[in-house]
Amino acid sequence: MEWSHHAVQVGISSAVAAATVGGALFAAHWPSSRLYGDALIAPALPDEIALTFDDGPNPRWTPMLLEILARHQARATFFLMGKYAAIQKPLVRQMRDAGHTIGNHSWSHPNFAFLGANRTRAELVRTQQELESILGEPVRLFRPPFGARRPYTFRCARSLGLTTVLWNAMAADWKSTTVDPVAARLTALVEQNHSRGMASNVVLHDGGQHSLDVDRSASVAAAEVLLTRFSAERRFVSLDHWNAV
Ligand SMILES: [Zn+2]
Repeated sequence: MEWSHHAVQVGISSAVAAATVGGALFAAHWPSSRLYGDALIAPALPDEIALTFDDGPNPRWTPMLLEILARHQARATFFLMGKYAAIQKPLVRQMRDAGHTIGNHSWSHPNFAFLGANRTRAELVRTQQELESILGEPVRLFRPPFGARRPYTFRCARSLGLTTVLWNAMAADWKSTTVDPVAARLTALVEQNHSRGMASNVVLHDGGQHSLDVDRSASVAAAEVLLTRFSAERRFVSLDHWNAV
């Protein structure tokens, strides 16, 4: 089955409202917008949680996450920037070998809402080739930086065999120096999704778009809080699991 058959049709009313109030540009940045094509958000599997990490790999924070995930026997998904993957190939293979799913998060983290067709395609293709050459296997998932996309972004991703992935639980972990507000916000969103009969697709960051030298201690700690809080009652899955349901 196609991803789109599983993706819950969330946010239709908010997407329409966004288009009405903010116009196309706002809609292009609205995570639950369905206006610009089908994206995987989360299926109607309320007992499942997908932890996803963007902007890595990072030599400091990614290995910490791998250790925490292993301790909780949890699988996760990492959306990698091509330029960071290219200089940390053993780490990328280590992530895959630990059972996690690797996705494409572009080469240099541009905003695809403002990018022309040629550069969009180049960002996706270069990253795809780099990741597939490191892993020796196909990469199937793409998350656009900032959640920004245009109709061409979806078409381009699809033409490369990529499913575009958004999310339904995000806190400003990349701006936070303390774990508590991030963990509290994400816990509330996970519970809210659960009460609506949906899985949670949680975004955190193990890297930074501008530099490898970033503080992601709050993000890593928040992941551990969620794993500790929910491990007994929910299942932590990688996004490719939802493809097989
Ligand atoms: Zn990003």
